[in-house]
Amino acid sequence: MRIDIISAVPDLLSSPLNHSIMKRAQDKGLLTIYVHDIRTYGLGSHRQIDDYQYGGGAGMVMMVEPLFNCIEELRNQRSYDEIIYMSPDGDLLDQSLSNQLSLKENLLIICGHYKGIDERIREHMVTKEISIGKYVLSGGELAAAVVVDSIGRLIPGVLNDGSSALFDSFQDGLVAPPVYTRPESFNGWDVPKVLLSGHDKKIEDWRMEQSLKRTGEKEKT
Ligand code: SAH
Repeated sequence: MRIDIISAVPDLLSSPLNHSIMKRAQDKGLLTIYVHDIRTYGLGSHRQIDDYQYGGGAGMVMMVEPLFNCIEELRNQRSYDEIIYMSPDGDLLDQSLSNQLSLKENLLIICGHYKGIDERIREHMVTKEISIGKYVLSGGELAAAVVVDSIGRLIPGVLNDGSSALFDSFQDGLVAPPVYTRPESFNGWDVPKVLLSGHDKKIEDWRMEQSLKRTGEKEKT
């Protein structure tokens, strides 16, 4: 899978996308991420990428031309399954959306800044808008990193134990059961006996029971 990200602050993306599982996905050649600095497409000698908004009001708007030129250049090289704009009012990211996106070949993600991007890009070029929650961030980079991480770990072969992602929360509509590791007892806090029993069926039943219980409790809140 290939993901292109258009950003005004590419450095914000480098750490989250180049460590841990995202690094492994790229090292294994299962995911390729290209970050494009929109300033390269900026206008004039100052490489301008934003301007005052028509109608007045505080806050700058990312200009249509640099974004158009960058998207066009990328679109001329390959076709994208989705051109995504990160936006607080987009579709709320959930596991089902991540699952769908993890099956795509080429994704293009646009990170906004300031007041956002000129509406004409959203209207004519963007095919999907994604929000990571009902709050406002100062830029789309952290949101894009969340989207890429949640998609990347689902690509077959990325996680060492291929079945691991299937048992994560929300994958089957349930919240994940509690997990424990060594030691068996710490500070008088004991690991549930069933997990030490070596009895696969009993462990599976206990995990399912805990998942159902947790899901029920979360649904009440
Ligand atoms: N004026 C806009 C907010 C702009 S915030 C509004 O009120 O809707 C600047 C940029 O950060 C946005 O263009 C978007 O790309 C990104 N962003 C902010 N909050 C986000 C969220 N919850 N999910 C996804 N992207 C977000």
